[in-house]
Amino acid sequence: MDFVGIEKLSLVDYDGKISCILFAKGCNFLCPFCHNSELVLGKINSFIPFEDILNYLKSRKNVLDAVVISGGEPTLMDDLKDKIIQIKKLGFLIKLDTNGTRFEVLQDLINSNLVDYVAMDVKNDLNSYQLTINKNDFDLTDVIKSINLLLENRVDYEFRTTLVKEFHNEESIINMAKMLKGAKRLYLQKFISSENCFNKNLHPIEKEVSLHYVKILSDYIDQVELRGY
Ligand code: SF4
Repeated sequence: MDFVGIEKLSLVDYDGKISCILFAKGCNFLCPFCHNSELVLGKINSFIPFEDILNYLKSRKNVLDAVVISGGEPTLMDDLKDKIIQIKKLGFLIKLDTNGTRFEVLQDLINSNLVDYVAMDVKNDLNSYQLTINKNDFDLTDVIKSINLLLENRVDYEFRTTLVKEFHNEESIINMAKMLKGAKRLYLQKFISSENCFNKNLHPIEKEVSLHYVKILSDYIDQVELRGY
């Protein structure tokens, strides 16, 4: 399957790197606060021929450092590994954005040295996870395995959580802190409502409260920062 979107140049998606972002279609979560609802629901069918992407990357080898593989959920792409191999051959760093639900894909990419940075969403504590992703019966085994894999520190990574008033509270943050104990980095992202969200009646958590959460999490995690506040 080909990618359905490309942001040709980004200065903010891979810290310290100039990157190009590729967007995969579809996701196995339905996070009510998702900004990419059209991608998640698979409504976008204008695939970009991978050959065109490779040609673009070749022409920007002197400008770009990295390629960010995002979505949707890119690990659902059946030929993701093959595509990353081809991009890597051009000399680019690879950042993978993932929800961690395909542990074996993530493990294989890490074992094969095909990713340089992983940004994994950790949506909430386990008690509230299914509510937060809007999938009542979702089996979280792979999410937990992916968290533990990243905690092994074999690849540079960050966890990230979008704080939403309707889903997060002090109790869920404390549980999450315990679940991520020993982690290197966690970003707490500000929720910003938009027309593209599945649920348009959600609210961000105030900065003051978010800073309190940073304090709680910092007892368990090396680097905890707010993003977008
Ligand atoms: S995991 Fe990411 S792409 Fe998928 S629904 Fe949630 S926010 Fe959207």
